[in-house]
Amino acid sequence: MNSLIDQLITLLGKDNVLTGQAVAESYSHIWRMEETLLAKAITLPRTTAEVSSIVKLCYHSDQAIVVFGGRTNLVGSTETSGQEIIISMEKMNQIEEVDTQSRTVTVQAGAILETIQMAIAAEDMFLPLNFGAKGSAQIGGIIATNAGGLQVFRYGMTRNLILGLEVVMADGTIISGLKKIIKDNSAFDLKQLFIGSEGTLGIVTKAVLKIIEAPKSRTSAFVGINDYDKVIHFLKFMDKELAGNLSSYELIWENSYKVMTGPQNDIKPPIPYGYKYYVLIEGLGIDQNQDQARLQFLLEQAFEKEIILDAAIADGGSDLEWFWTIREDVHQLKSDCSIDHHFDISIPIPEIGVYVDETVKKLNLIDGVHKVFAFGHVADGNIHFIVDKENVSPALKKDIDLTVYTPLKKLGGSVSAEHGIGLHKKAYLDLCRSPEEIALMKVLKKALDPKNLLNPGKVIDMEYISVIKQKIVH
Ligand SMILES: Cc1cc2nc3c(=O)[nH]c(=O)nc-3n(C[C@H](O)[C@H](O)[C@H](O)COP(=O)(O)OP(=O)(O)OC[C@H]3O[C@@H](n4cnc5c(N)ncnc54)[C@H](O)[C@@H]3O)c2cc1C
Repeated sequence: MNSLIDQLITLLGKDNVLTGQAVAESYSHIWRMEETLLAKAITLPRTTAEVSSIVKLCYHSDQAIVVFGGRTNLVGSTETSGQEIIISMEKMNQIEEVDTQSRTVTVQAGAILETIQMAIAAEDMFLPLNFGAKGSAQIGGIIATNAGGLQVFRYGMTRNLILGLEVVMADGTIISGLKKIIKDNSAFDLKQLFIGSEGTLGIVTKAVLKIIEAPKSRTSAFVGINDYDKVIHFLKFMDKELAGNLSSYELIWENSYKVMTGPQNDIKPPIPYGYKYYVLIEGLGIDQNQDQARLQFLLEQAFEKEIILDAAIADGGSDLEWFWTIREDVHQLKSDCSIDHHFDISIPIPEIGVYVDETVKKLNLIDGVHKVFAFGHVADGNIHFIVDKENVSPALKKDIDLTVYTPLKKLGGSVSAEHGIGLHKKAYLDLCRSPEEIALMKVLKKALDPKNLLNPGKVIDMEYISVIKQKIVH
């Protein structure tokens, strides 16, 4: 009997099964390209049928699989131990159809978000899904994490944009549900099982996403505020006065803003330092001149009512790029850290001001914490922290984790607003999901992946079979 690798080579051809040095030279995350990747092989399927055949071979060999998208996740969900076969979706990257009448786009899982955005824009349509990793993140990975991003406030999470999915199950069965319809109450909505399952329940091979008519105007402003109550007041004011056109409302704390706009990045601050909070807003509307004038008028009103203390409006395309690069390029904050430790929590919006103040204070008291950056999608109740720490010791990690996560249970929050659970947050899932919920997740996992072969050890621990021992890192 040929080895599994031989069978994979027979199936895909030598060029599409990487082993040995070629694996070592690859990487499990875009921020750690210099580290050696550990895996038995990387497979590069070109079709759904090939994905299905790879999975069938693995199923019969009790072989664990990890799917690689753009490898931009922030929770260790593409970590490997060396015992896995990797399915990299990079060759399944076609945009199969932009249907302007059904208002859908049909894409293969390996298509990169920014490429999809551009293809849709060329048809004068718009995909309201956007975040800093858009140049690398693939739609399959985005669906598998139910990514959020900068426009969730108006358009919802990835889940809200998915009309149909094609998925390969753990035994290789292909479930094809690539419908273009918004309404479908014909029994269980199976696609929802796979959205946000981080590659543990099935492999997404294609998707149909909802798109909308392209907005005709885009306006933005940076605003300075000192009082958290006024951050909420300004959100309500702008949302009401822009009558549904407010699409983003991002909050940045001053020390984060300083690094994001510091001379080391060659990016000027749109408004001066000295405010506690910096809010970046975006409106998508129908008339650039009118919308710009309306924004100016509303900011003046907010200023007169003493809701805001300062504001700068983006004047045209290059300003928009300037403003949004500041927010999207989170890498600047990461680069300012010796060792960066990321958080992605959510709590009800009114609780954020006090929670962040208290948490940052407590974090700064921990021996081994250098600094803490806070920023986030505040209108979604979602705050990110990047903690700069001295070392990777488990004790320090635990101290930091517990400081951030412990208050969440009482506040009715979540340890993951949008990045998922992966490996890094698995130990804290029970702070935001009940024992009954976790038990039901395990029932589903067992039903869909009875041998625990799909991304084993991620999201939830399964007791019934341990195909590989996972290396828990970070
Ligand atoms: C600079 C930066 C900014 C970011 N900003 C945001 C943000 O604002 N909002 C947000 O939500 N996230 C953000 N992220 C996190 C990340 O970009 C998202 O989680 C993204 O959805 C991951 O997509 P990916 O293709 O890189 O997936 P990967 O990292 O490759 O994979 C993520 C998970 O999905 C699984 N997977 C990948 N492809 C498939 C598939 N085809 N079928 C089944 N499982 C699959 C993997 O096994 C893994 O478990 C950011 C990341 C960076 C680096």
